[in-house]
Amino acid sequence: MTRIYFDNAATTSLDPVVLDAMMPYLTEKFGNPSSIYSYGRESRLAIENARKTVAKILHAHPAEIFFTSGGTESSNTAICASVRDLGCKHIVTSALEHHATLHTVENLFHNGEVTASNVRLLPDGHIDIEDLERLLAGSADKCLVTLMHANNEIGNMLDLNVVGEVCKKYSAVFHSDTVQTVGHYPFDLKNTPVHFITGSSHKFHGPKGVGILYINENVKIKPLVHGGSQERNMRAGTENLYGIVGFAKALEIATANYETDRDYIHSLKLYMASQIQKNIPGTFFNGDIYGKSLYAVLNVSFPKTEKSEMMLFNLDINHICASGGSACTSGADQGSHVIRAINNNPNEVAVRFSFNKHNTKNEIDKVVGRLADMI
Ligand code: PLP
Repeated sequence: MTRIYFDNAATTSLDPVVLDAMMPYLTEKFGNPSSIYSYGRESRLAIENARKTVAKILHAHPAEIFFTSGGTESSNTAICASVRDLGCKHIVTSALEHHATLHTVENLFHNGEVTASNVRLLPDGHIDIEDLERLLAGSADKCLVTLMHANNEIGNMLDLNVVGEVCKKYSAVFHSDTVQTVGHYPFDLKNTPVHFITGSSHKFHGPKGVGILYINENVKIKPLVHGGSQERNMRAGTENLYGIVGFAKALEIATANYETDRDYIHSLKLYMASQIQKNIPGTFFNGDIYGKSLYAVLNVSFPKTEKSEMMLFNLDINHICASGGSACTSGADQGSHVIRAINNNPNEVAVRFSFNKHNTKNEIDKVVGRLADMI
């Protein structure tokens, strides 16, 4: 039986065209980008071209794009530097953030470096903007607001412009974890009031272990990683040359086909939602799936029974890949902190299905058929 992969919010397959673009830099073009002879200059050029490509697509300036090892490092850098270098002493975040954000904030809090508040959530899992404004207005300290653009488990999307304007009003620094939207959504960073955003290429058919941190040109922070002068002294260490080339190529491909892919993937999500409703009684969807929601993510709560508790295991036996939460915790069997925060019903089992452009309705029919047997 062939595998059905419905866990694209965890990671995606590498596009063969991206691999082709990376290949020369994994083989004959291996020069260290910091070397001054031709091999090195060739590598340096590849990195700077990748930076220009990424900046152009996101409507940013190349000097605002820093390559990192992925979304986790980018968020750690933005949050820690906001506290250390930008004077933020209070962090406003939400219970729905990825652990890359939650654990960084918790660490700063436990070290006594900041106070922290979680913004209230509305019943559909969206951020309560009035509560955000109340928290910012009530803080005597300078605030960092760190809220994700699209939630990786339930797909809910935040309006970056609305939150950015509220942050501006209270002179707060705004960082958004955009790992689920870079490569899935058009950005116009010149006209978006945000100080930091993040990206990770393995979420859009690029290689793992490479990401970006966008730092708005008016924000001046110091490096977190010390050593050589790579990334304009902001991130020391020999660059992930082939990864960076792969990031830019994957983003280029995702952008070229954005509307077609988005519409197709969205149609898969809606089809699966309708088939589940039709064939499996007692299910419901977590998050605002028909509203402000990422087109690729569908989170379903099934009634808890002896059979459904074993659902992820049974899906796996049937060669179907889906997850109960973020991939970083799915081995830990603690359930999802996101589902607990929006819907604390112990009589349900939540499963996230997330799609890519290669998935088909036929696959959905097979998965829904298996699910119906498992409930
Ligand atoms: N933020 C979100 C929303 C994610 O989905 C992920 C990936 O799981 C990350 C951050 C971490 O990104 P990376 O795997 O590149 O460190």
